[in-house]
Amino acid sequence: MLNIVLFGPPGAGKGTQSTRLKEKYDLVHISTGDVFRALDPESELGKLAKSYSDKGNLVPDEVTIKILESEVTKHPDAKGVIYDGFPRTTAQAEALDEFLSEKGTSVAVMLSLVVPEDELKRRLISRAQTSGRKDDADPQIIQNRIDTYNNSTAPVADYYRAQGKLKEIDGVGTIDEITERIYSALEVYH
Ligand code: AMP
Repeated sequence: MLNIVLFGPPGAGKGTQSTRLKEKYDLVHISTGDVFRALDPESELGKLAKSYSDKGNLVPDEVTIKILESEVTKHPDAKGVIYDGFPRTTAQAEALDEFLSEKGTSVAVMLSLVVPEDELKRRLISRAQTSGRKDDADPQIIQNRIDTYNNSTAPVADYYRAQGKLKEIDGVGTIDEITERIYSALEVYH
């Protein structure tokens, strides 16, 4: 089973690139952000997730880890999984390692999309026009998401670097150019 963590700040292109990777390699794509947005907004869990995500804060680890594990469990025959937007804390990375090791597998690689902050902000503001996402529309919330990434999420790259699994990908360019960089980085796994 090929487990790929697609990592990067908000607006780095994780969702766009995941869709392409999923098709090319026949993988399951799990985006915890998409899972949270798909929850019934009237349910307890939906309300809880929204109370964090609308402000650009991280949903607590216990909730997020449970959701992720239940999504992975829905695909027992997957050839592999792209984890998009998870793990976002070191505790989540540790939980993923433990969960996968119980299944006799592990993360093969973390692909980290590197994009400068001013470019991220430009992309998120432009995405707000079509995404309908509250957290894309407000410059203060965007800033909070970027700060949260820098403070709580960026250290996750060090976790995988220490395991020799981190591959940084230049995330600036056309969508096709970035896809090609990702394909090259993944060649060794096929
Ligand atoms: P995304 O679609 O990846 O930008 O995620 C949207 C929002 O969902 C984030 O700002 C968080 O509030 C929440 N979220 C998604 N993934 C996680 C995660 N792994 N840990 C905590 N919160 C998350």
